Amino acid sequence: MVATHPPQKVTVIGAGMVGLSTAWFLQEHGVQVEVVDREGVAAGSSWGNAGWLTPGLSTPLPDPAVLSYGIKAVVSPASPVYVPVTTDLRLLRFLATFTRNSTMRRWNRSMRALAPINARALAAFDALHEGGVAEPTHEAHSFLAGYRSKAETDFMLTELRHIAEAGQEMHFEELTGEEVRALEPTFSEIVGAGIRLFDQRYIHPPRYVASLADSVRARGATIRTGVTVTGLTPETKGVRLDVAEGAPEVHEQVVVANGTWISSLVRGLGVRTPVQAGRGYSFSSPIDHEPSGPVYLPNERVACTPLGDGRLRVAGMMEFRPPEAPLDQRRVEAVVEAARPFLRGVDLDHREDEWVGSRPCTPDGLPTIGATSSPRVHVAGGHGMWGITLGPATGQLLAEAMVTGRPVPELTPFDPLR
Ligand SMILES: Cc1cc2nc3c(=O)[nH]c(=O)nc-3n(C[C@H](O)[C@H](O)[C@H](O)COP(=O)(O)OP(=O)(O)OC[C@H]3O[C@@H](n4cnc5c(N)ncnc54)[C@H](O)[C@@H]3O)c2cc1C
Repeated sequence: MVATHPPQKVTVIGAGMVGLSTAWFLQEHGVQVEVVDREGVAAGSSWGNAGWLTPGLSTPLPDPAVLSYGIKAVVSPASPVYVPVTTDLRLLRFLATFTRNSTMRRWNRSMRALAPINARALAAFDALHEGGVAEPTHEAHSFLAGYRSKAETDFMLTELRHIAEAGQEMHFEELTGEEVRALEPTFSEIVGAGIRLFDQRYIHPPRYVASLADSVRARGATIRTGVTVTGLTPETKGVRLDVAEGAPEVHEQVVVANGTWISSLVRGLGVRTPVQAGRGYSFSSPIDHEPSGPVYLPNERVACTPLGDGRLRVAGMMEFRPPEAPLDQRRVEAVVEAARPFLRGVDLDHREDEWVGSRPCTPDGLPTIGATSSPRVHVAGGHGMWGITLGPATGQLLAEAMVTGRPVPELTPFDPLR
């Protein structure tokens, strides 16, 4: 079974940030593209996320600190990381591997693997902009992390040092509580210290992904919705897709970019790294004063983003439960109560768009990008907390690999067959 380079036509499964970016960059190379999604554009985690384009913070999820959160979480359901007591064997295996990877040595190795793709992240957004994606990215004029005390900043300062050691430049400055509030009055009196990050950006996620989809369509692609792919079989002349709503279809080449659900489609194609839902919650609230950048509460694991319409999106929580489980109101309350003491002028009791979505997490904290055991089937996903930041760079690099048929060094550590 051979795949031609460049492919004539590629079908992308999944109309989230990763699938649409891959479609867009394949189009840059003159490849004809079709995108299919069971629901619609940004129906998965690309909708309700915090919209941070923060390559400076794009680090591997399994680290010793998250692990200690996880252990606490089993006994404390209000913790920002929730691991239910479970008998689900897949989840237990995932957690066991995740735990094994949560050492400083493995974190450093994964961080070095992420640094080269992180370095390309913002330029890939610029390429989308120059190529016609109308919705802008916003410079974060004040990207501020707020803490109760100076002592609490130690963890992030150490992490920033480790990030630098892995070869990733990150500019930041330490601030007092007064300096934090002077820059951003949304922080309350409880904030006694802060860290300001430079050179990061943010987007309005639903608007951005819709605009990316418009651009993909304008460049000649069809986005077919209401197409649930239930199975995928490489054949001599193409890839057969079993579709819940109709007859099987045969496609020349396929990119599987269906977020948290990737494993169900590619498990039989040599992809052993499982993708597991790390569910997060978000909502938006009216705000008196629109911040000029993201507001970050690292210890509370809460991420806030100005939406540009007098509302603040508040996001948080890491919940290892099935992606189809309903929204759990207690988790929304946990995010509200974690954020409340730190914020001023945000009406957290008047919430809209309460949402739960699934970060596609891998146990080694690295995405899975590249060919499966079939050269006609590629995978793009598993970015965990950072699929918005890394979606365009992923699409750009994967399109290059597919079109040239040559390995792309930045993608080597993310080999789906690892
Ligand atoms: C609370 C929260 C905050 C976050 N904040 C940030 C942030 O600030 N910055 C950042 O970089 N990342 C953030 N993330 C992570 C980011 O949202 C994800 O990594 C990213 O959206 C993943 O994109 P994707 O395209 O891989 O998947 P998705 O957006 O989930 O898209 C997958 C698509 O596949 C479709 N699909 C699924 N199964 C099938 C099937 N069988 N057939 C057809 N279609 C199918 C779905 O309908 C969906 O549209 C956050 C996540 C959460 C939950």
